[in-house]
Amino acid sequence: MSVQYVKGVGPKRAAKLRRLNIHTVEELLYFIPREYDDRTNFSYISQCVEGQKVSLKVQICGYPSISRPRRNLSILKLPIKDESGRASLVWFNQDYIADKLTIGDTIFVNGKINRFGREIQIVNPIFEKGMDKVGKIMPIYPLTENLTNNEMINIMTNAIKDYGKKMPEMLPFYLREELNLMPIYESIKNIHFPKDKDSYNEARRRLVFEELLTLQLGLFLIKNRTKGIDKGIKFSRETNVDEFTNGLPFELTKAQKKVFKEIEEDMEKEEQMNRLVQGDVGSGKTIVAILAMFKAWKSGYQSVMMAPTEILATQHHESISKFFSDYDINCELLVGSLPAKKKEQVLEDLKNGDIDILVGTHAVIQDSVEFNKLGLAITDEQHRFGVKQRAILSQKGFNPDVLVMTATPIPRTLALILYGDLDISIIDELPPGRKEIETYAVGEDMIDRVNNFVKKQVLEGRQAYIVCPLIEESDTLDIKSAEKLYLSLKDEVYKDFNVGLLHGRMKPLEKDIIMDRFKNKELDILISTTVIEVGVNVPNANIMVIYNAERFGLAQLHQLRGRVGRGEYQSYCILINGSNSKISRERMRILQKSTDGFYISEKDLELRGPGEFFGTRQHGIPDLKIANLFTDMEILKLAQKKANEILEEDSLLLDEKHSLLRQNIIDMFKDRINDLIFN
Ligand code: ADP
Ligand code: MG
Repeated sequence: MSVQYVKGVGPKRAAKLRRLNIHTVEELLYFIPREYDDRTNFSYISQCVEGQKVSLKVQICGYPSISRPRRNLSILKLPIKDESGRASLVWFNQDYIADKLTIGDTIFVNGKINRFGREIQIVNPIFEKGMDKVGKIMPIYPLTENLTNNEMINIMTNAIKDYGKKMPEMLPFYLREELNLMPIYESIKNIHFPKDKDSYNEARRRLVFEELLTLQLGLFLIKNRTKGIDKGIKFSRETNVDEFTNGLPFELTKAQKKVFKEIEEDMEKEEQMNRLVQGDVGSGKTIVAILAMFKAWKSGYQSVMMAPTEILATQHHESISKFFSDYDINCELLVGSLPAKKKEQVLEDLKNGDIDILVGTHAVIQDSVEFNKLGLAITDEQHRFGVKQRAILSQKGFNPDVLVMTATPIPRTLALILYGDLDISIIDELPPGRKEIETYAVGEDMIDRVNNFVKKQVLEGRQAYIVCPLIEESDTLDIKSAEKLYLSLKDEVYKDFNVGLLHGRMKPLEKDIIMDRFKNKELDILISTTVIEVGVNVPNANIMVIYNAERFGLAQLHQLRGRVGRGEYQSYCILINGSNSKISRERMRILQKSTDGFYISEKDLELRGPGEFFGTRQHGIPDLKIANLFTDMEILKLAQKKANEILEEDSLLLDEKHSLLRQNIIDMFKDRINDLIFN
């Protein structure tokens, strides 16, 4: 039912509520407070401490006085007492309140204690004769534009009174009983107007569980669909990759060997491989993927590798071709910017089986792309793709083995949310001989010194990246900031050097040209947005300067830093911190201290919360209203366990007792409804 029909709403307020994404009564009831104003802390006047927020039961013991110390300022003062002492209530510019209260009235007040000499004052207190607002825990809603918290409280009170009891109970009785979960009506009531702290905790626990269970069930169902019931490919045991590894210019690290062995065993099994390779920036994931492709080729299958940007795809294509130059392996590139003719040719050759390995961007999952005999589907930098894109890629073949690679290490339980039932391999070691990148965080007042340092290094033959932030949701601003910086640096500070600009709105071809010029050392300094974040490899570049580093996530800064330290030179990462806040200094310190991607991303998650950390939209994970994937880890574990049990017993949720849960999953995943198995 439309929210408009809730008492106190009407068309005008309904329009405001719509801006908060509240359209129905149900959405209103699930509009969770941002925080609470706890007014349960009753005290006596004599015990009041400066700055403390308290509730008092007092009597008005004198006449109001109004003073006007300045134009536009009037101060109303009202004396009060309780059995322990005396105090004053004070209001600014609200003289009308004097008429509402008379001497002798007993009232309840709540506010912050202010000691004024020997006098105790409460400024702009909440007051009332009954106990509707004082003595309670009151919600504070995340509101915008022209809707006050008090209005919202009134609307919510009416909605709960008139519709709360009609809320459907989606958690089956057996589950609520087993886990001791509060019924829905009480949960809704207590999440908005908690009776006490315990009731709040119980209400929240139930609602978080409900949300995470729905999420997890939905994700499991999507996964089951993509998993398929057919058998996968059994790659030949005979196809030894030693001949290839022996020809490499370096020895694989122990971690690389271990991870490839896990992959090889998967490939030789009849079941479809679904494996995630996690490894820090520079740990050498690509070569492991190349070994797998080699094995697929030896067994007579095609492979495909999808990367998030053209720059990265092009680079992979180049290095893969080079690694395989001694073999009769045909590796082709498919990206959006390819000329139409060439694209047609690639598509045809791919279908005929003349291409053994296809490398590309999203272009490789378009409908027109058909393989002859796809055996292995690889996604690089998986954190840049959604679950869905990975699924489409693997559907290009007949249950090909699937390998996904990511440099964003995440805790295991969250990996389960994001990557479901993937098996996980970790490359936990960097190739030998890497010099640790020296990282410095500096304030904006140090920019001149940073510039001088860059100049000095460039004069010694090195190259530098200068990155400025992507301002969220606004590509235009993003370009402006990079462009502005480019213009100001190129003709002044770095006028004696070759400076290039790279940003996300450039045409792929333009980007490639710039990137090539940087690789070939025609450019000394590359000013860029985060488009260079993933995978770019220019060993001669040894400085990464990041402007407004406070605006980036830690994991992202770590990724950016990974663009340097790829060659024989000592490398530097300079974080220019434009904020003075404690938290941003703390974040910079973490990066200075550690080069361990796992540690950094865990800290990132802790400091920023999962929403921002994951960019959940990218992952195709619905927005969560109440649960916090990080702090609610225990409930998440429980929800995962229960989701498994439920699906084991009722794999499509067809049982009557699960029908509302099923409906809730459909509602939650409405954008991705086609992915759900039972739709
Ligand atoms: P990432 O895991 O970040 O994708 P890459 O696969 O791009 O890392 O590898 C980074 C660099 O390290 C590449 O230049 C690669 O050739 C090199 N490399 C990979 N494995 C080894 C190794 N075992 N010994 C030396 N260099 C290696
Ligand atoms: Mg890589």
